[in-house]
Amino acid sequence: MRISTITNLAYGITLLLTGISGTSFILAADAAKQERAAVEQHRLLDDLIEQLQIGAEMRTDEARLYVMRGAARHLAAFRSEERVEHSREQAFRTLRTKMLTPKEAAALDEAEAHLDALDRIELAAVAAMERGDQAAAQQAMFGPEHESAQAAILGPVDRFADLVAERSDAVLNDAQRRADWLAGIAHTMLALTALLFLAVLYFVLRRRVALPLIRMTGIVNRLARQDYDVDVPLDARRDEIGDMTQAIHIFRSNSIERDRLDQERAADQRVKDRILQMMHRLQACANQDELAEVVTCFAPQIFPGMAGHLYVVADHGASLTLAGSWLEPGPAPLSFPVGACWGLRRGRPHVSNRDETDIACPHISDDAAPSLCAPLTAQGDTIGLLHFEEKPDAALFGEASRLYLEMIAENIGLALANLRLRDRLTSLAVRDPLTGLLNRRCLDEALNRHAREPATRLACLMIDIDHFKRFNDEYGHDAGDAVMIHVARSIVEEIGESGSVYRFGGEEFTVLLPGESEMAAFERAEQLRERIGTASLAHRGEILGSISVSIGVADAPDHGPVTSLLPRADAALIDGKRKGRDRTVRASMLGVPGQDGSAAA
Ligand code: GH3
Ligand code: MG
Ligand code: MG
Repeated sequence: MRISTITNLAYGITLLLTGISGTSFILAADAAKQERAAVEQHRLLDDLIEQLQIGAEMRTDEARLYVMRGAARHLAAFRSEERVEHSREQAFRTLRTKMLTPKEAAALDEAEAHLDALDRIELAAVAAMERGDQAAAQQAMFGPEHESAQAAILGPVDRFADLVAERSDAVLNDAQRRADWLAGIAHTMLALTALLFLAVLYFVLRRRVALPLIRMTGIVNRLARQDYDVDVPLDARRDEIGDMTQAIHIFRSNSIERDRLDQERAADQRVKDRILQMMHRLQACANQDELAEVVTCFAPQIFPGMAGHLYVVADHGASLTLAGSWLEPGPAPLSFPVGACWGLRRGRPHVSNRDETDIACPHISDDAAPSLCAPLTAQGDTIGLLHFEEKPDAALFGEASRLYLEMIAENIGLALANLRLRDRLTSLAVRDPLTGLLNRRCLDEALNRHAREPATRLACLMIDIDHFKRFNDEYGHDAGDAVMIHVARSIVEEIGESGSVYRFGGEEFTVLLPGESEMAAFERAEQLRERIGTASLAHRGEILGSISVSIGVADAPDHGPVTSLLPRADAALIDGKRKGRDRTVRASMLGVPGQDGSAAA
């Protein structure tokens, strides 16, 4: 029941009880009034009867004195008493109709009859006295007739007095009882009202309002401190407190939901920040290793609890090689063919569950955890693969994570593509496309760098293929190219990490050997010449014949400055050509009579 209903009901009952109590009090007061009226009537009747008796006695006394003494004043007093007697009788007549019961009236009538009889005797005596017959008058006044008439009055008077007293007592008792009963009712009603008031105070104010409000205050305070663990008991009572509890319950649910959404939004923002940071770092990567490092650093932050691998396409798009891993994924191949991944084949993320609901990628082992392969593409080309593995305590990508996955896959793909494009452009700018060697411009830059450190030793080989034109002419340009590639590869293999090899132009190559003397370079040149000279080369099934090279050697700073290194080596090369080719000439020996400094095969 609602509190307002209870208070209204209590208010109504209190009003009713107060009404009953008030009415009872009024009625009790009325009964007391009746009581007083009964007492008053009793007193009045007592007075009257007494006056009646006294009046009769006084009149008798005056009549007797008159008949004894004959004085006129006693006659006058007797007459006066008689008039009073008449007025008293008048009053009795009024009383008879108003107050007296039939029995009382009968007693009164009887008393009056005796009084009348006495009156008649006394009047006769007075009349006899007035006629002068004193003896007759005295006989009448003191005779037995008068005495018996006087005695007869006492009986009905006493009876009348008893009847009046009896009736007054009865009325008094009745009024008393009624007054007591009504007062009892009034007091009971008052007590009930007080009890009701106390009950309302206790049950409504304390139990239904104060206690729940104190409890609610505690709950609301905790909710205000964002302590949503507080238990809000669902109040089944359909009253105002129940409504309030319901409202607090809804408020708590809404707050929890809002908190959850805030946390989700904050987590979402954190992930987006991490993705943005990763993108910035990806764009600043100088090579693929750095890119793999960035991905392995950020991927576990963006997808916590997801182990994974980064694969990049190698072998001109035929296979994938492992570039990086994070959060200790299960065993995975270092390399596998592109066709072994359903994600790469389909060009979209593929989930491998191993629960036979979908086909699993062959590159994943049979006992692997559920995993997801996200292809990395750029401008329609597949350039890598992100492979995620589900950890026991994390589900494999929700809808939001898929969005992030697409975002980072796209960015990693673009960054990889950019790196490759940059590598290609750099390669095109500094390398010769046919042989893959560094070009003439790189040679100039290297010599300029060495020129800034003139004290550092540097040797140079200028190499020219002998009669190269012959290969072009006899076997075609492709064969000429093959010879060129073969010679370039031989030079690179011979020199290795000890120097750098450049294509100077046409069929001429330059080698720079930092820290080497002319003599040491000469020996390297001879070994190179031998390597080239002893190899046989076939092109499209045709033996191309022997290949020889002429080499000019110079060094700096002992035999000249770096700036003249190239011309000196070239001069030595030309000298070698002039002397019959297939030989090495040291620039320092040019012009020395008897010692041309050359070595020929
Ligand atoms: P020598 O022994 O005097 O050096 O004679 P040679 O034939 O090697 O020299 P020459 O300068 O007469 O001829 C060089 C030829 O190399 C001319 C040119 O057509 C050819 N050549 C230059 N660059 C290339 C190239 O990239 N590929 C091919 N196949 N031939 C080239
Ligand atoms: Mg040549
Ligand atoms: Mg040449």
